[in-house]
Amino acid sequence: MRRSLVVGNWKMNGSQSANQALLAQCLAENLGTAEVAVCPPALYVQAVAEQLKESSIGWGVQNLSEADSGAYTGEISAAMVADLGCHYAIVGHSERRTLYAETDSLVAAKALQASAAGVAPIVCVGETLQQREAGQTLEVVGRQLKALLDHERFGELGDWVVAYEPVWAIGTGLTATPAQAQQVHGYIRGVLAEVSGSLADRVRILYGGSVKAANAAELFAEADIDGGLVGGASLVGSEFIAICRAAG
Ligand code: PEP
Repeated sequence: MRRSLVVGNWKMNGSQSANQALLAQCLAENLGTAEVAVCPPALYVQAVAEQLKESSIGWGVQNLSEADSGAYTGEISAAMVADLGCHYAIVGHSERRTLYAETDSLVAAKALQASAAGVAPIVCVGETLQQREAGQTLEVVGRQLKALLDHERFGELGDWVVAYEPVWAIGTGLTATPAQAQQVHGYIRGVLAEVSGSLADRVRILYGGSVKAANAAELFAEADIDGGLVGGASLVGSEFIAICRAAG
């Protein structure tokens, strides 16, 4: 049985005082039985880790380098991410793919790099509106996923998570209907099952794209939706708390 997971992706938002207040609000509430983690901007990870270290809430990063160390100005390595006790590293978020031209193979390399350091990658996949309207959703998602599954080092991957995030639903207020999301989640589960039944049973598939308190429960009720990757609503304490509760 997969344990539900809710991950807050704070993106490039927050401040020391705002982060502290948001987490204090979450820590004061019963978040339910789902696993919960937050991914602040890298600069704030240390302070967030300090505040969360005695709690059940985990933390992670929104991106990391595919390289080990050295002359990569502005980057953070998987070893640094592990050093800060991060549980998760989001890789291949659509904003990274679009704004920073991250390719499927780079995303796979980042996922393997995180995993080798003992940090579970959350591998984001998803189609644009144009691709959905052209009937290419499953093809696009399958290609993004297979870049990792077909990687020569795939066997080295430890714990990892998939996040299905239709690009047209991220930060737009548009949400895939539960049926639309389940169709893609079921497809992803099937692609994982082609590798092995145990992989399909084990890997959690999160939905992301304008998840909020008002729609979380119906999304999480779908058979292959194991929780959420939450952007905007993870910055609002009451919303995030309600989403966590809806997951478990
Ligand atoms: C995200 O950034 O991963 C995301 C899903 O954003 P939002 O919830 O704001 O759509």
